[in-house]
Amino acid sequence: MRYSGFRIIKEALTGHKGWEKAWRNPEPKPDYDFIVIGGGGHGLATAYYLAKEFGQSRIAVLEKGWIGGGNVGRNTTIVRSNYMLDGNEPFYEFSLKLWEGLEQDFNYNAMISQRGIINLYHSDPQRDAFTRRANAMLLNGADAELLNAAQLQKMCPFLDFDNARFPIKGGLLQRRGGTVRHDAVAWGYARGADLRGVDIIQNCEVTGFRITNGRVEGVETTRGYIGAKKIGCAVAGSSGRLMAGAGMRLPIESHVLQAFVSEGLKPVIPGVITFGAGHFYVSQSDKGGLVFGGDIDGYNTYAQRGNLPVVEDVCEGGMAIMPMIGRARLLRMWGGLMDMSMDGSPIIDKTPVDGLFFNGGWCYGGFKATPASGWCFAHLLATDKPHETATAYRFDRFEKGLMIDEKGVGAQPNLH
Ligand SMILES: Cc1cc2nc3c(=O)[nH]c(=O)nc-3n(C[C@H](O)[C@H](O)[C@H](O)COP(=O)(O)OP(=O)(O)OC[C@H]3O[C@@H](n4cnc5c(N)ncnc54)[C@H](O)[C@@H]3O)c2cc1C
Repeated sequence: MRYSGFRIIKEALTGHKGWEKAWRNPEPKPDYDFIVIGGGGHGLATAYYLAKEFGQSRIAVLEKGWIGGGNVGRNTTIVRSNYMLDGNEPFYEFSLKLWEGLEQDFNYNAMISQRGIINLYHSDPQRDAFTRRANAMLLNGADAELLNAAQLQKMCPFLDFDNARFPIKGGLLQRRGGTVRHDAVAWGYARGADLRGVDIIQNCEVTGFRITNGRVEGVETTRGYIGAKKIGCAVAGSSGRLMAGAGMRLPIESHVLQAFVSEGLKPVIPGVITFGAGHFYVSQSDKGGLVFGGDIDGYNTYAQRGNLPVVEDVCEGGMAIMPMIGRARLLRMWGGLMDMSMDGSPIIDKTPVDGLFFNGGWCYGGFKATPASGWCFAHLLATDKPHETATAYRFDRFEKGLMIDEKGVGAQPNLH
């Protein structure tokens, strides 16, 4: 069934009796050509592009809970391609271009809203660093504008420009950045994959791998053994636990990151604003709530809930740049599990086990990467070769010292 304005009108006039389930609930088959572990954004996108772009079939996505229950439904919905390094920027720009056509491509309303993203700067050296980043973005075909304080004041009069510690001098604006309704992305990819014959199997946790003579043959799951020719792992914050089952120790730590939503307010924030120096970022949802967040909690955990010191820290960050936020009541908050890599950049690569592939290390920036990550992982699974925009996302960069240290803080997940 195709979704369209015409279909909504027709269903409205006929008592909404014609809607079909968005995806099936199939039983697992004994074996597949491809198994993708993890029904988050990246796993579902991988299965979708495997079927749609690479003409593959006999594909299953195995999800231990329900699709959309992981980070894809817990993030703060920001998409952008404002990176600087060569290893990153072409990949994230590819992703942003895919976002721009995604709703038409998978025929689902994901509320993609290119309302712009602004990174604030507070000093001349920071302005120079942003100028350099903007130039790198432009060279890679992305858009970037440097705003001075007067230009920014017109867009965001509520900011505290004269803050004693972090006076706001301007910002780096990417107009094509913005927000996307996060769980609709999981649903859209799931529906699109299901329509192309992918089995999406929920409540099916992978508990181990069957490996013979260095080659993977299948997975042990809570619903029995399932064989596969190729297996792709995309389980985000559970990467370390899953890959230990294949004898791998990853350059990844799991941390918790929290998100916050205030009560609904009239439209006040024009796009996304990030205050990197104070670890705070904010946008406004279409329902009016201020959606904001800050740093990871900073300790290793597999728990999807955070603690109060970071709540205080994030709210202080908000108060520092937009004191009016102190008048809004906090409505709800939650946590998600981050797969923090050692240099803050992701991995999309083969593993030492034949037929076993890995996608992870997305830190707190993997939502914006969802379309490109799925596309590039599908490319690797289908062709055994990395996609041209993802050639740097290899395991051996840590061994060879070729880190993609976008933030320049070294191998310290708590600083990325
Ligand atoms: C609070 C918060 C805010 C964020 N904000 C942003 C943002 O604004 N912009 C941005 O770009 N990124 C953001 N992120 C990061 C982004 O959400 C993640 O990097 C990205 O969603 C991870 O990929 P995923 O969607 O595939 O993960 P998930 O949705 O977590 O998918 C992984 C899935 O694997 C499943 N799984 C785990 N183990 C197994 C197993 N053994 N067997 C079967 N299934 C298993 C899990 O149940 C889960 O559903 C944020 C994250 C959080 C938590």
